[in-house]
Amino acid sequence: MRYAIIADIHANLAAFTAVLDDIARGGGVEEMWCLGDVVGYGPDPHQCIELLRHYNHVSVAGNHDWAAIGKLSLSEFNPDAAAACRWAAQQLSPEDVAYLESLPLVIEKDDFTLVHGSPREPIWEYLLSIGNAKQNFTYFQSQFCLVGHSHVPLVFRYTETGGCSFSPFLTSSRLALGKSRLIINPGGVGQPRDGDPRASYAIYDSQTRTIRLYRIAYDINLTQNRMVEHNLPVRLVARLSHGL
Ligand code: ZN
Repeated sequence: MRYAIIADIHANLAAFTAVLDDIARGGGVEEMWCLGDVVGYGPDPHQCIELLRHYNHVSVAGNHDWAAIGKLSLSEFNPDAAAACRWAAQQLSPEDVAYLESLPLVIEKDDFTLVHGSPREPIWEYLLSIGNAKQNFTYFQSQFCLVGHSHVPLVFRYTETGGCSFSPFLTSSRLALGKSRLIINPGGVGQPRDGDPRASYAIYDSQTRTIRLYRIAYDINLTQNRMVEHNLPVRLVARLSHGL
């Protein structure tokens, strides 16, 4: 079976559509595993929720999903993120709100635990350092954990000697799932932050026990024009060009 691992769509319909097209071209998947933040930052929150719900999927909640429905205070957000989230809240239908309301913080699927930020702090913690990642290996039971939130594709590996190593998750090689415990981030669909502006997602193949990362070019200008149309913060518009 094949599963798509997607994170941080962030209301970027052009990026999400490009990813869905790519998944379809590759033969489709059994189910999509979404790691949260469907909304926030981008210009199409309602459309992205509606499109995601067309697919067989599971999703955890992200900090932007919770903030858009008033489950999390915007005081913790930077001013641009807060402004975009306030705007997103106004675009949601009652069904969208009910959908976001229903999302759990943690989902367990086969050998995987799915969270937005980290297993220790699913809503807020960014896993970008070896120190934090190492501590988090004690907060989930399964062999693998899938995280989003940082929008940076990477892999943390818990070593047999109790250490932890880090590597960027690159498109050039398949990640073979062996005996090691791993924390894996597939990067962000709608707002990549690793310096590559292309949408990022991964496919897990349960037969070959491999995960492969994909980077997909999409019409960034289309998303940026829609953001300008809706007076979303200019810095959020600009960062999409740079993937930062
Ligand atoms: Zn995010």
